[in-house]
Amino acid sequence: MPWQRLQTDFRFALITLFGTLATLCLVPIAVYRFMTGATATGFIDLGVVIVIAGSVVYMWRGGSVEVAGRIAAGIGAAGVIVVSMLVGLAGLLWVYAVVVASFLIVGKRTAIAYGVVTVLTVAAVGTGFDSAYMRVAFAVTGLVVGLFAYIFAHRTEHQRMQLEQLVTRDALTSAANRRAMEQELPIAIAASRRNDTPVSLAVLDIDHFKHVNDEHGHETGDRVLVDFARVIAATTRRGDRLFRYGGEEFVLLLPGIDATALPVLCETLRQRVADQVEVGGRPITMSVGAAELGPEDTASEWLARADSAMYRAKRDGRNRVVVATTPGTGAVIDLLLRQAARRD
Ligand code: GH3
Ligand code: MG
Ligand code: MG
Repeated sequence: MPWQRLQTDFRFALITLFGTLATLCLVPIAVYRFMTGATATGFIDLGVVIVIAGSVVYMWRGGSVEVAGRIAAGIGAAGVIVVSMLVGLAGLLWVYAVVVASFLIVGKRTAIAYGVVTVLTVAAVGTGFDSAYMRVAFAVTGLVVGLFAYIFAHRTEHQRMQLEQLVTRDALTSAANRRAMEQELPIAIAASRRNDTPVSLAVLDIDHFKHVNDEHGHETGDRVLVDFARVIAATTRRGDRLFRYGGEEFVLLLPGIDATALPVLCETLRQRVADQVEVGGRPITMSVGAAELGPEDTASEWLARADSAMYRAKRDGRNRVVVATTPGTGAVIDLLLRQAARRD
């Protein structure tokens, strides 16, 4: 899993690269110091290696990338301040690189804070400046570089969020799309098993939707899909997730809901749709198949059980809810809820 993250998570990969390079460079230096009797500086070098390598190991074992990034950026900032005091001008030039690099490994606000502190500290304590004017010029150019890096990071983040929306949202209904569902179901399964809390899903399929298109046109069909998604979203809780699974088929992910709560919840949804979505004065109805996650279920097995419950609701006459039996619980909770007033 962490090996995969090297390819998919840019920040994770960059912090790993920084940690590895810093460790490889500093270990021989520390050894050299111990061999030449400079024990105190040897221990300092060793301490820095332990902090850097430790933060990378922590991140690889599932720790926060942001925390590891802050440690890496902090070490970089401290390092460049020390170097600017020891080697003068040659050290000062590294400040620009460190200010820009920190935008790649921590959030933009943290990066600008680190940048301002680094530039101002170096301008105050660095050697290699031949006048006060040079110190001010250094501080101004350093801060301008930081400002441009901040603007660039801000734009990149905005575009990344827009792109993420485009690839995970259905443009017509604004529900999350199938791709998002395939990413989120395994996460929901892992969270449910880790926290020992139930999670359920419901497959919602609009009844006789083809007739809507045939009788009222495709545009009206689209309007019905938008209304349908809006009613479902308005009826569910904040943590619930609605995905457009296919044309007129949706999947609703319900964290914290078990099989005993499903019939009433799904029945409320079915009723709301029948009451609030209509075309040409006739109600739109849906068939619902729901299933709680079983102890051994994979995402596709779970979805398949909800899907076959939905087909059973279709076979039994549509406009109804069927809750699947949860395997491994021993309980048979196959519940069929008929609506009172059927569509004409
Ligand atoms: P059932 O009750 O058995 O579910 O019947 P159905 O007519 O709803 O199901 P079927 O799968 O036969 O037809 C689904 C229709 O949904 C066919 C397709 O043209 C229509 N459809 C799929 N995506 C869209 C869309 O984005 N907009 C519109 N207007 N129609 C769509
Ligand atoms: Mg349908
Ligand atoms: Mg369908």
